[in-house]
Amino acid sequence: MAKEELECSFCGRKKPETSLLIAGLDAHICDRCIEQAHGIVIEESKQSGNEELSSELMLKKPQQIKSFLDEYIIGQEYTKRVMSVAVYNHYKRLLQPPSEDDIEIQKSNIIMVGETGTGKTLMAKTVARMLNVPLAIVDATVLTEAGYVGEDVESILTRLLQAADYNLEKAEKGIVFIDEIDKIARKSDNPSITRDVSGEGVQQALLKLLEGTVVNVPPKGGRKHPDQKFIEVNTEHILFIAGGAFDGIDKKISKRLNMAAIGYKAASNDDEIPDADNLLQYIIPKDLKDFGLIPEIIGRLPVLTYMDPLDADTLRAILTEPKNAIIKQYKKLFSMDDVEMTITEGALDFIVTKAIEYKLGARGLRSLCEEILTDAMFEMPSNNDDKLNVTRTYAERKLSKSTIKKLKAVS
Ligand code: ADP
Repeated sequence: MAKEELECSFCGRKKPETSLLIAGLDAHICDRCIEQAHGIVIEESKQSGNEELSSELMLKKPQQIKSFLDEYIIGQEYTKRVMSVAVYNHYKRLLQPPSEDDIEIQKSNIIMVGETGTGKTLMAKTVARMLNVPLAIVDATVLTEAGYVGEDVESILTRLLQAADYNLEKAEKGIVFIDEIDKIARKSDNPSITRDVSGEGVQQALLKLLEGTVVNVPPKGGRKHPDQKFIEVNTEHILFIAGGAFDGIDKKISKRLNMAAIGYKAASNDDEIPDADNLLQYIIPKDLKDFGLIPEIIGRLPVLTYMDPLDADTLRAILTEPKNAIIKQYKKLFSMDDVEMTITEGALDFIVTKAIEYKLGARGLRSLCEEILTDAMFEMPSNNDDKLNVTRTYAERKLSKSTIKKLKAVS
């Protein structure tokens, strides 16, 4: 074949009509066809990725998301609703086709305010479980500004990569739960004369991550090191959920609501008397700012929600109702040794009373049960009894004062 007669095997253009003609084994391809094929490859991979996601994620509408949360989490109605919508919107944003209009959906990162042990971590875990996406739980207190002793904020993404078994695509659609976000609050309202290593600096470092950026992440964690290979992680589609107890924020809320220090009186034109036992329900972003979060961080955690304190009824329900409730777990453990375990209402009430009396919260419920049941779990697998009925008297006997004190110390 004469040189001039070479042509693209895909579009038939003759060599002189192309800018470039690449030879294969027994075919040729021109620059235009390469470009077109490249576009198809990108489009295809985007679609297949999205389809996989959409079939896993988009099956659930907010009400279904909430129903799922209901199976595992007692109460916390407001946060469950807010969370369901935020999560739904987040993944809608993720699946949106390349923008035809100029409406860009912003991330719905979430901040949850509530006492410890009220279920913040559980909420994040349950959402991740439902969506089947990797979850990294990190403690904000260990983070420091780059260059200081502690962990760089990038370590958050190392954890997420680990949770995703180093599957980058999965990690980039995962969830990060940042616990104790209140501990990196600015210590004083005065924007820092001395440097505030563990507070504002960390907030600044977190900003980019929350918003969406490409970060060089050391895959094994630790300090950045010139010789270490990095993985580039794009945080644009990572959902960040922050949680914190914000001890003392209720005082700021009550001040804002113009309530007197002892008792309360309603703000002037407002008939509704605030519920002094649950002031967190009135929280607004300004309270977070007054507490010491910088406005930029608050702006990047646009969904603000609160957790209700756990009362006796809730604690009681936590013991028996969730899908993997503590009592259900013990029953299962015993049944594996062919022991049928039952527990009386009186015993359950007793456990709840002790949890409240010693301020052990929901976390204490498990420790209390463990103390009450350890003897039985030790002895019964080897003896012939096939029934265990835990009564109030039995529970009282197993739980001496000193053991409760011990629980208090570790909780
Ligand atoms: P937080 O993150 O707010 O400190 P956690 O989510 O770690 O609290 O809660 C501690 C434990 O208490 C959980 O593992 C869970 O067993 C139980 N718990 C707390 N709140 C609830 C709730 N609302 N429903 C069911 N279990 C709860």
